[in-house]
Amino acid sequence: MIYNVAGLLSGELGRGRQQQLENERLSFGNHSFTEINGPVRMIRTDRTVLVSVDIEAVTLDTCGRCLEPATVNVSVTLEEEFSPANADLMGGSNDRPADYDDYYDPALVIDEQNFLDLSEALGQALSSAVPIAPLCKKECLGICPTCTINRNDIQCTCAQNTHDPRWGVLAGLLEKGAKSAD
Ligand SMILES: [Zn+2]
Ligand SMILES: [Zn+2]
Repeated sequence: MIYNVAGLLSGELGRGRQQQLENERLSFGNHSFTEINGPVRMIRTDRTVLVSVDIEAVTLDTCGRCLEPATVNVSVTLEEEFSPANADLMGGSNDRPADYDDYYDPALVIDEQNFLDLSEALGQALSSAVPIAPLCKKECLGICPTCTINRNDIQCTCAQNTHDPRWGVLAGLLEKGAKSAD
C-alpha cells in the first residue's frame, strides 16, 4: 500500500489517479486484516494529495457473546490529505508554517522519496471500524450466565428457570397470536 506519487506532485492541480486494493493484508495493533479490497483514489490539491479509500476487509476477533473466534467483516471509507515532505515539487516552498507541528500527523506524510504509505492511516481506520463486541454469527446464543455452557453447542435448561419480564411479554404476545389464529 505504498505508492510513488512523484508524478502527481509535479503534475497539474486536480489531476488524479486510481489504484485498486486486491486481497491485500495488513496487521495493525491487535488485528490482522485480510481480503482488503476496494478503490484508492488520489487527487493532487493545492498543497496535498487527497486520498479517498472505500474498502472492505476481514479480521478475526472474539465473539462478544460466546467468546469463540468470530470472523468480522469491516468496511471503511476514508478521506485524508497527505502532505509531501518535498513541498517544492508542488511549486511551493519547503518552509513549514508556524503551526505545522499542531497538524503534523506522521501517518499522513509523503516521504522524501515521494512515497505515500497508506498502511498507517488505513490500519487506524480499519481498527476503529471493528465493533467492540463482534458476533460469531447473528443468532449466537452466547454463554449461559448460570451454568457457563456455550449455548451454541449444548442447550442447557437454565433459561427455562429465569424470569426475565421481556420474555413474559413475548410469551403473552405469542399466546395472543396463537389464539387469534385459531
Ligand atoms: Zn458467538
Ligand atoms: Zn445454563
